[in-house]
Amino acid sequence: MSASTEVLVDFDEALERYDPALGLEVHVELNTATKMFCGCPATFGGEPNTQVCPTCLGLPGAMPAVNGKAVEAAIRIGLALNCEIAEWCRFARKNYFYPDMPKNFQTSQYDEPIAFDGYMDVEVDGTTFRVEIERAHMEEDTGKSTHVGGATGRIHGADHSLVDYNRAGIPLIEIVTRPIVGAGARAPEVARAYVAQLRDLILALGVSEARMDQGNLRADVNLSLAPKGSGVLGTRSETKNVNSFRSVERAVRFEVARHAGVLDAGGKVVQETRHFHEDTGITTSGREKSDAEDYRYFPEPDLVPVAPSREWVEELRATLPENPTAKRARLQAEWGYSDLEMRDTVGAGAFGLVEETIAAGASPQAARKWWVAELARRANDAGVELAAVGVTPVQVAAVQALVEGGTINDKLARQVFDGLVAGEGTPEEIVAARGLAIVSDDGALGAAVDKAIEANPDVAQKIRDGKVAAAGALIGAVMKEMRGQADAGRVRELVLERLS
Ligand code: ZN
Ligand code: MN
Repeated sequence: MSASTEVLVDFDEALERYDPALGLEVHVELNTATKMFCGCPATFGGEPNTQVCPTCLGLPGAMPAVNGKAVEAAIRIGLALNCEIAEWCRFARKNYFYPDMPKNFQTSQYDEPIAFDGYMDVEVDGTTFRVEIERAHMEEDTGKSTHVGGATGRIHGADHSLVDYNRAGIPLIEIVTRPIVGAGARAPEVARAYVAQLRDLILALGVSEARMDQGNLRADVNLSLAPKGSGVLGTRSETKNVNSFRSVERAVRFEVARHAGVLDAGGKVVQETRHFHEDTGITTSGREKSDAEDYRYFPEPDLVPVAPSREWVEELRATLPENPTAKRARLQAEWGYSDLEMRDTVGAGAFGLVEETIAAGASPQAARKWWVAELARRANDAGVELAAVGVTPVQVAAVQALVEGGTINDKLARQVFDGLVAGEGTPEEIVAARGLAIVSDDGALGAAVDKAIEANPDVAQKIRDGKVAAAGALIGAVMKEMRGQADAGRVRELVLERLS
């Protein structure tokens, strides 16, 4: 493949000679009930080609109509990105042939996007970068091709291809940034943070599931290099459909190294699309692309213009959620988390879950402890998202209440989580069924203490001689005897009482 012939320059070295410029295009698949221009369900997972009609199949004479809920979502996204909202705008036909696009044009927006001229402030390690948003426009998704018989799942080498039009016509919002310059060596992190923050915003708006691994949110990463200090923009490459935050960062890093290699050798960067490979972290050439690619855009004649009234726009503005970045700062202060604790919480995907657990009555530190230390590990082992680990925030708060009430300790709580994941009932039911409650009854504890003293006469003598620190060994023996289910504080008291 072409990758083997490429000369890569060390990233830091490349940054000594070149200024990177980033551009990010993110497609967000909306979670509306129906498609963008017809009444077909927009839900995922139906049998292939069962969620289609003459309109989304592009049959002659079919008439599209705009989905009002999708327009509402587009306006809310635009407002949340500090954009202007067009008073009047049209759809356009973007003409190109692709087998998974049955109309042979995509209904999109061209020079009249619904939202434009916005920004998002992106935080990277305490520094704020303002990312300017050029536009957010409405369009529709394509169908999905499956290539059968080849080794790679790509069309090359396949025996035949199948196409499913269920996805064709699902509403998309495409959000395009202006070139992001001035990030320097932080360009990879800025790209990642932008996509991550944008995803938070989309989730807060409730307009999409925004699952990158399922393609609800797809990022195209544009990158170019210019000689340091020149202030011009170089030729860009466009890495398509990068599907995780980490991959966004890696794709930028790789493209900086690759562009620098081409430029150092006196070559010209080819303006093209590239594919990112998760396994190797490299990009390979897709298709060449010119700036004025001839899509023969023209206004869509079958749809009326979209002209949202200013009253409606203001009504929608009033529905915007608190900005996720501001909210995060506010809650960090409320919860008393350090920067590191906050970063771990967000990094584990636990922020919203922790918030709900605290709302259900747990202390901030307890909520963090369970989600970030215990449940994130389980999710990781099971290869699922934290929210799908099988334990809810309300249950975590209930388990913590049992710990604080002295019914169980942290160690026993882990067994309660085992029971919750296995669907054995409520935390209280699991404690009862599994017999996990801590024993603080003096009769049972006293017997175990006497047994431990008898079995460890040397230790007992040390304690009699005043070496109280030695009590730990006896407490440990009692805890072991009682399978961890003893009230350790009461055991200590009993040991010292007997040996004083
Ligand atoms: Zn349809
Ligand atoms: Mn698009």
